[in-house]
Amino acid sequence: MPAPLTSGSEALFARARAVTPGGVNSPVRAFNAVGGTPRFIREATGPWLTDVDGNTYVDLICSWGPMLLGHAHPAVVEAVQTAAARGSSYGTPTEGEVALVEAIVARTPVERLRLVSSGTEATMSAIRLARGFTGRDVVVKFAGCYHGHVDSLLAAAGSGLTTFSLPGTPGVPASSTELTLVLPYNDRAAVTAAFAEHGDRIACLITEAAPGNMGVVPPAPGFNQFLAETCRAHGALFVSDEVMTGFRVSKAGQWGTDGAVEGWAPDLMTFGKVMGGGFPAAAFGGRADVMSHLAPEGPVYQAGTLSGNPVATAAGLATLTAADDAVYDRIGVVADALRAGIAETFTAAGLPHVIQSTGSMFSVFLTDAPVTSYDEAQRTDVAAYGALFHAMLDQGVHLPPSAYEAWFVSSSHDDRAVQQVLDALPAAATAAAAA
Ligand code: PMP
Repeated sequence: MPAPLTSGSEALFARARAVTPGGVNSPVRAFNAVGGTPRFIREATGPWLTDVDGNTYVDLICSWGPMLLGHAHPAVVEAVQTAAARGSSYGTPTEGEVALVEAIVARTPVERLRLVSSGTEATMSAIRLARGFTGRDVVVKFAGCYHGHVDSLLAAAGSGLTTFSLPGTPGVPASSTELTLVLPYNDRAAVTAAFAEHGDRIACLITEAAPGNMGVVPPAPGFNQFLAETCRAHGALFVSDEVMTGFRVSKAGQWGTDGAVEGWAPDLMTFGKVMGGGFPAAAFGGRADVMSHLAPEGPVYQAGTLSGNPVATAAGLATLTAADDAVYDRIGVVADALRAGIAETFTAAGLPHVIQSTGSMFSVFLTDAPVTSYDEAQRTDVAAYGALFHAMLDQGVHLPPSAYEAWFVSSSHDDRAVQQVLDALPAAATAAAAA
C-alpha cells in the first residue's frame, strides 16, 4: 500500500513550527519519538480520524484517553450544543457542575470533589491540599508515573532510594523537587524504607492508580492497598491519580477493580480525561475532612476562572451518563480482539513483545519479559516501535506516536475498525521485526 499523501499536514506543520515551539501544543504530538510529520486532523467521528489531506485512520489514541465513546458521540454533541447556546461561562455556580460532581461521587469513594480544568491542576491542587492538611512537606512519587507538568512532580530519582530528587527538566528549581522522593514502582521494600526514614515528614504519596505513562504497568496484586496502609500508618495521605484510568478501566476506574474489592479507599483522588468528554475538565476529591481544608471552607487556597465550565461539564456529564455497561463491555471486546491479533501476528513475525493491561487499557512493549517498573520499561525496542507505528499509519491506523503510551480504544470501535487494525498488523509486525 503506498504511503498516504501528506502535503497538507506538511504545510501546516511548517506553518505551526514558525509560530509554536516544535509546531505542537503538547510535545508528544510532534512525532519526535517516531520521526515524520504529524497528521493534522480535520475531523473525527466514532473511531475514525480524517486528516487535512483526506486520509482516514482508525484512532487508537482517543485523545490520550478521554474519548471513551468515540468522537462526536451524538449525546455529547447535543449536550455541548445546548450548553454553548446558553452561554459558555458565567463565573457563577451552575446546576451542571453539581450534577457532574454528583455523578463522580456516585461512582467513586470520594466524598467531596472540586472541579478544575486539567489533570495537571488536579494533581497540583491535591498535593497542595495534602501538605496543607498534614502540615508536612515531603511528597513521594514513583519513577515512570506522570502526573502532569507540576514542578515538584517533574522530578528524577536521586542517587539513592531514600534521597531527595533532582529536577527532571530545566526550569524547575532544585528547591521545587528537593522535597520529592522518587521510588521504583511496584517496590514494596523501597516504600517501606522511605517511610521508615522520612515518614513523619511525608504529606502524601501520589501514584497512578495503574501506571499508563510508561506504557501500562499494572500494580502488583495488593500493591495499592499496601500503599494505602503504609500511608495511614505514618499519618500521610494516599493520593491515587486516576486521570487516565478513571471511568475507563471500569465505571469506578482502577479503584473499582482493587480498592472496591479489597475494601479500602484513597484519601484523595484525581480525575481528568473521560470525565470531560473531550473538553477541559478535571477534578480532585476525597475524604470530606481533608477536602474541607480547601478554600472557602478552609485555609488552603485553590481557584479557577473556568473551573466547572458549563460546556465542559455538559460534555463530561453526557459522557458519564452514556457510559453504561454495554459501553464497557464493547471496549473490553475491542481490546480483547486487538490483543489477540497483536499476540498472534507479532509472534508469527518473530517480534518480541509483551502486552500489558489493566482492564481494557493496554500497551505493547517490544521486549521479551514482563515490565514491572520504569527501568524495565526502558528495555522496549524504540526503533522497532517507530517502524511499527509508521507501517500502521501507512495502512490507516493511528497508534500513539510513542513506545511508552497506552493504546486507547472506544465503544465506537466497530467491527470494521477492528478489522482494519487486524489487517494492518502482519505487515507492520514484519516491518518492526526487520527494524
Ligand atoms: N495524571 C495522569 C495519570 C495523566 O496520564 C495525565 C496526562 N496524561 C495527567 C495527570 C495530566 O493531565 P493533563 O494533561 O490534563 O494536565
